[in-house]
Amino acid sequence: MRLLPANRGTFPDTFSKSLIMETSKKHARKVVRLSREMQDNYAHSRKVRIYHGTSNSTRVLSFKKNGVVDISDLDQVIKVNKNGRYAIVEPNVPMDKLVNETLKHGLIPPVVMEFPGITVGGGIQGGAGESSSFKWGLFDNCCLEYEVILGNGKVVKASPKVKADLFYGLASSYGSVGIISAAKLKLIPAKKYVRLKYIKVNSFEEVVEVIKKETKRGSDFVDGILFSKNLGVVMEGTLTDYVDLPITTFSKTTDEWFYLHAKKNAEKKSGWEEIIPIRDYFFRYDQGTFWVSRYAFLRLKFPFNRFTRMLFNVAFKTRAMFRFLQALKTSQQTITQDISLSADKIFTFLDYLDKNINIYPLWFCPLRPIKDAFLSPIFMSTDLIINVGVWGKLIKDFKKILNLNRKIEKKTLELGGRKILYAQCYYPESEFWSIYDRQKYDKLREKYDSTKTFPDIYDKVIVKEKYKVSYLGGLVSFIKSPTKYPIS
Ligand SMILES: Cc1cc2nc3c(=O)[nH]c(=O)nc-3n(C[C@H](O)[C@H](O)[C@H](O)COP(=O)(O)OP(=O)(O)OC[C@H]3O[C@@H](n4cnc5c(N)ncnc54)[C@H](O)[C@@H]3O)c2cc1C
Repeated sequence: MRLLPANRGTFPDTFSKSLIMETSKKHARKVVRLSREMQDNYAHSRKVRIYHGTSNSTRVLSFKKNGVVDISDLDQVIKVNKNGRYAIVEPNVPMDKLVNETLKHGLIPPVVMEFPGITVGGGIQGGAGESSSFKWGLFDNCCLEYEVILGNGKVVKASPKVKADLFYGLASSYGSVGIISAAKLKLIPAKKYVRLKYIKVNSFEEVVEVIKKETKRGSDFVDGILFSKNLGVVMEGTLTDYVDLPITTFSKTTDEWFYLHAKKNAEKKSGWEEIIPIRDYFFRYDQGTFWVSRYAFLRLKFPFNRFTRMLFNVAFKTRAMFRFLQALKTSQQTITQDISLSADKIFTFLDYLDKNINIYPLWFCPLRPIKDAFLSPIFMSTDLIINVGVWGKLIKDFKKILNLNRKIEKKTLELGGRKILYAQCYYPESEFWSIYDRQKYDKLREKYDSTKTFPDIYDKVIVKEKYKVSYLGGLVSFIKSPTKYPIS
C-alpha cells in the first residue's frame, strides 16, 4: 500500500496523501490516468458526463461514448480495516460486492441500498438511502472522506474537516461538481440475521403514526408499504444472531417477491415476525424491483402468477430490469418518483396522490434530516422526513404522464419537500432553482473548477425530450450487447 514514487510527478501538488497512502498502486494508476484525462478536458473546455459501467437511474440515458469520462474500472474494495471499522473503496463497487467484503470482517455499512447493483459513487451522488436511514441519514452521511478528481484534473481529499464545503457539496450533485475516485466508509458490527416485525396498518394516518413510533424504539430498520388506501404494513427490523423462528429468504428463484409475501400475510394477519438472513434482508426488494417489474408483465401481456415469476425470475431482478429499461427507452411511460417530505406533511401528500393520481403500492422510508449537504433530499429542518416511493402506472400518452409528473412536482414544492433527482424531472429551470440554492451551488462549482468540464445539475437531471419507445431495436441491441450500460 504505497503511494506512487513522487518523482514520476503523477499527482498535482494539491493532492492529499492521507487517503491514498492507504490505497494500492493499482488504484493510484487509475487515478493518474483520469486526472490526466480531466486536465486535457479542462484545457479544451470539454464538458463530460460520467460513464461508470452501470446505472440504476430511470432517466432515459445516452449510449453515446463521446463527451464522456470512463471511470468504470474503479470497481475495487481497496481495504477493510476491522479495528478502525472503516473501508476504503472505489466508487463503482456495487452494494452486494461491498457487503460480501465487509461481512468477511464481521462488519456492514450502516446504510445498504436495496438494489444490489447500486454503486458507492452513484449512491453518494444520487441521494441514495434505505430502511436504516432514519438513524444514519443517506449513504453519503456514512462516508468519512473522499478522494476527488476536480474538473481541472487536480486530485484532492475532502472530509468534514478538510474542504468541508466540497465534501458536503458533492452529496446528491449528480456528477456535476467532481469525480469521486475513492471513498472511506464507516462500518458497524454485523449480525447474521434481521428479525423483522410486520405491523398491519389500515389508513394514511396509521402508516405515518406507526412509522413515527417505530423510529423512536431504537431498532435498526424501519420501512413501510401501502398496498391500497386501507391496507399496508410497517416493518421494523433488528439485527440479531438469535434464531427462534423459521428462516425466510427472498433471494432464491422459488422465493416469493417480498412485497407480495408481505401483502398476502397482511391480508390474513394483523402482525407477524420473521427471521431473514442479512443479505436477503438488504436486497429483499431485488426480485421484482419492489413491484415495478409487475409493469413489464403488463406491458408484455404475460400472465402474472407464481409460476411465471419463477420462470422469468432473472429477467425481473433489478440489474436486468434497468438494462431493459434503458435499451427499450420505456421509463417515460411509467411514474417513478421518490419524494422526501417532513413527516407532518405526509398525510396531505397522500390524500392529494390518492385523489389525483391513485397509484399503489406506495413505499415509505423514514429518513433522518441533515444540515450540511445543501443539495441532498434530506436537507430540511424538521424532526423526521418520510420518503414516499411513487412508482407505477403504465401511461403511453406523453402529455398525460408529463402532466401527472408535474402535479407531483408542484405538490412537493408546495409542501416544502424535495424529489430525489435520479428519476424523471420536468421542473422549469426557475422552479428548480427555487428549491436549491443556486448561488451556493455556482460558488462551489467555481471554487472547485467544475464549470468548464461538468454539466450543471439541472442540465443533468432534467428531461429535455420525449423518447420514442423502441421495442424491437432495443431488444436487438440488448441481445447483441447485454452488458452495455448507458452514460449517467
Ligand atoms: C423503483 C425504484 C426504487 C428505488 N429504490 C431505491 C431505494 O430503496 N434506495 C435507494 O437508495 N435508491 C433507490 N432508487 C434509486 C437509486 O438508488 C438511485 O438511482 C441511485 O443513485 C443509483 O445509483 P447508481 O449506482 O445506479 O448510479 P447512477 O444512477 O448511474 O448515477 C447517479 C449519479 O451519480 C453520478 N456518479 C456516479 N458515480 C460517480 C462518481 N464516482 N463520481 C461522480 N459522480 C458519479 C452519475 O453521473 C449520476 O449523475 C430506486 C429507484 C427506483 C427506480
